[in-house]
Formats: sequence, structure tokens, C-alpha cells
Amino acid sequence: MKQIYVFLGPPGAGKGTQAKLFCEAYSLPHISTGDMLRAAMKAGTELGSKVKSVVDSGMLVSDDIMIELIEERISAPDCKNGFVLDGFPRTINQGLSLDKLFSERGESLTASILFEISADTLFSRLEARRSNENRADDTAETQLERLRVYEESTAPLIEYYEKKSLLKRVDANTSIEVIQKKVISIATELNSN
Ligand code: AMP
Repeated sequence: MKQIYVFLGPPGAGKGTQAKLFCEAYSLPHISTGDMLRAAMKAGTELGSKVKSVVDSGMLVSDDIMIELIEERISAPDCKNGFVLDGFPRTINQGLSLDKLFSERGESLTASILFEISADTLFSRLEARRSNENRADDTAETQLERLRVYEESTAPLIEYYEKKSLLKRVDANTSIEVIQKKVISIATELNSN
């Protein structure tokens, strides 16, 4: 069975860090749509210039563009044993399209892992990220916009995956190592079923 995971959580919950560690441990490709868009913007591709103003503002790129991007990416040979999606889906519509893609491809989601974090931890992490990373979409203003967009458009996916009994919750308020162990134990348990 392919190992297919969706890492879900607000910006600052640490899902990117955890996705990277998890993918190294399981030799799976880490598919971060945010990284893909930033790479396209940096390289100045047609896609990059199309999405730049939206990404910099903290709003969401259109579902059509994102779904096309994901379809192409998960069709690459390195995804043959599975993959981890970090930052996709971000809307119910993207979730529905992903399910459609899976059924066309004869695949199914192993689990969606939700990184739960308190507002206090979140704000201190976002503040740290503002000083450590030099991301144009990480100003205080855009971080707030991204949180608002998360609550409005992405958080409904929690219930979406919960209803399908595919949601696994992880307390993301602790250390990188503790969270990493928890994610690995979830995957180990799923693989033994
Ligand atoms: P991230 O690095 O995942 O926080 O993504 C950075 C930005 O890229 C987001 O604020 C969006 O503007 C855009 N983006 C990334 N993934 C998606 C997606 N699945 N749907 C729409 N926009 C996205």
C-alpha cells in the first residue's frame, strides 16, 4: 500500500518541519505546495509571476492552478511508494478534487495528520519565524491574513477528514522531537493494521 499523508494545521504549527523529518525517515517525497510556488516565483516562471501577488498577500492561489500542480506532481515517478502533502489541500474544493484524483488513480489516503497548537504557542512561533526567515509573506500583517484564511477556508477540512475517519490529531505545542515521535508512532500503527 502506498503511504499517502496530508499534513494539516495552521501556518506556524510546525507541519513543514515535521513533514520534512517524516519524509526523511520514510524515504517519501515531501510535497510542499508553498515551496513549489516560492520556487516558481524565484525562477520567474509563468506560474511564478501569475501567483506572486496572491502569495505575497497571504491569500490563496486559485483551486484550479493548485489542483493542476498537484496532479502533475503526484504523477512523478518518485511518488510511486507514496508521498506527504504539506499545504494541500487548503480548501474543501481541493480536498474533493484530491479524493477524485485518488479514486481515478486507484489510491487512497492513509491519514490526515492535524497539528494542533494553542494561540500562545502559535504567536510566539510566528514571531520567531519573522525574524529567522526572510519570507515576503511573513510580515506580521500577512501572517494574520494567512491565519484568517486558514480558519475560514482550511479548518473545515478537519471535519471533512474526521467524518471519513482519516484524521489523526497531534499536540503540536511540544518539542520537535516529541512531535516527531508521535507522528512516527501514528504511522507505525497505521502500517500494522
Ligand atoms: P505555505 O508555505 O504552505 O504556507 O504556503 C505559502 C502560500 O502559498 C500560501 O499563503 C498561499 O498563498 C500559497 N499556497 C500554498 N499552498 C496552497 C494551496 N494548496 N492552495 C492555495 N494557495 C496555496
